[in-house]
Amino acid sequence: LSARLTDTFKNLRAKGKLSASDIDSTVREIRRALLEADVALDVVKDFTGKVRDRALGDEVSEALNPAQQVVQIVNEELVSILGGEQRRLEFAKNPPTIIMLAGLQGAGKTTLAGKLAKWLKGQGHTPLLVACDLQRPNAVTQLSVVAEQAGVAVFAPEPGNGVGDPVKVAKNGVAEAKAKHHDFVIVDTAGRLGVDAEMMKQAADIRKAVNPDEVLFVIDAMIGQDAVATAKAFQEGVDFTGVVLTKLDGDARGGAALSIRSVTGRPILFASTGEGLGDFEPFHPDRMASRILDLGDILTLIEQAQGAFDEDEARKVAEKIAKDAFTLDDFLGQMQQMRKAGSIKKMMGMLPGMGKMKEQLDNFDEREIVHTEAIIQSMTKAERENPKMLNGSRRLRIAKGSGMTVTDVNQLVQRFEQAAKMMKTVARGGMPQIPGMGPM
Ligand code: GDP
Ligand code: MG
Repeated sequence: LSARLTDTFKNLRAKGKLSASDIDSTVREIRRALLEADVALDVVKDFTGKVRDRALGDEVSEALNPAQQVVQIVNEELVSILGGEQRRLEFAKNPPTIIMLAGLQGAGKTTLAGKLAKWLKGQGHTPLLVACDLQRPNAVTQLSVVAEQAGVAVFAPEPGNGVGDPVKVAKNGVAEAKAKHHDFVIVDTAGRLGVDAEMMKQAADIRKAVNPDEVLFVIDAMIGQDAVATAKAFQEGVDFTGVVLTKLDGDARGGAALSIRSVTGRPILFASTGEGLGDFEPFHPDRMASRILDLGDILTLIEQAQGAFDEDEARKVAEKIAKDAFTLDDFLGQMQQMRKAGSIKKMMGMLPGMGKMKEQLDNFDEREIVHTEAIIQSMTKAERENPKMLNGSRRLRIAKGSGMTVTDVNQLVQRFEQAAKMMKTVARGGMPQIPGMGPM
């Protein structure tokens, strides 16, 4: 989808005034791109119709830069189809808030249960996970593992808790939550590989039994053309209040999101972006629109980068390097900035062609910064500014003071010297090329 749209927009950007035929051919390209991305035909027609009407209107012909205006319109319409504003989770007036998860097997429900629980816990809530997938042999164990990772309680069927009957387990789970004052209940359910009447009835029965505040339909963003049929089947069979898109860390660029939202009218609440419990975020329609337009989720990126790097700081360091006055304090400052960019790996993942860089960052060790901090903080001001004065007895003192070994201190000094040398090269002759990374 994205490569094609990008080409289309490139053509547009190169032009000044737009003719009606420019607009028509652009709309045709958008239509083809969306269809190729498995967006449902009705949705595509509706979408391109709106874009065309607006593009032919005054807002484009009177615009300073008509091409940019068309891009803007496409973006706005995408955001609007994806749900406009972001919707939040409904909370029950009287706790616990009950969230039920439904979807095909492998969609990511159990993983999502853990992610939601962790996220809610981080906001001070006390979720209870309830294991109602009694179909797959390992499902209950899997949920218990996820609960433990998230640091939350789990309610699993044991003799007396209603073995074999997911509806009973759901009811008992909610009762347990009330008794133990959990303010959230997350009900994990069974799925099948394909839509099937028995599974659907089971989910519907669970829904009737516990009357959830939210029923979240969990769907793999990579599912392609089946997205619409699956979503419709679940809407008819169980009905749901919201959608969670999973596996957005893969190649899928959002075609499914577009169709599901448009066909079911239900909002997308969350996006799941990996196997780890932290790989999860509230869904941002505007960001998904950018992703579909292949802007590399630039908003998220800019936000994260702004949080991570202080421009002034970077300029000061560059000046120091040029003057050959780079100290261990500067070195430490740089490492700390790297840490602030805790999400830097994610950030890289959002940019096309950054695989190599991401690999390197995978090896970035958080503890190393803590150790580096300890060592540098055990040095005197003079030592930090002039590491050449670090003789054997000074290194021994620093090692003792920081609780590290002399070898650790030696290695740090060595790494600092390498970094200083490398940066001097950079300051003199421009950036060294990192493989897989274009010019920044
Ligand atoms: P369920 O059958 O719906 O409960 O699905 P699971 O939670 O067991 O997930 C199925 C598989 O998909 C597991 O291997 C998960 O680790 C994986 N998975 C779940 N969510 C994501 C995601 O957002 N991204 C990726 N890459 N994998 C995911
Ligand atoms: Mg499961």
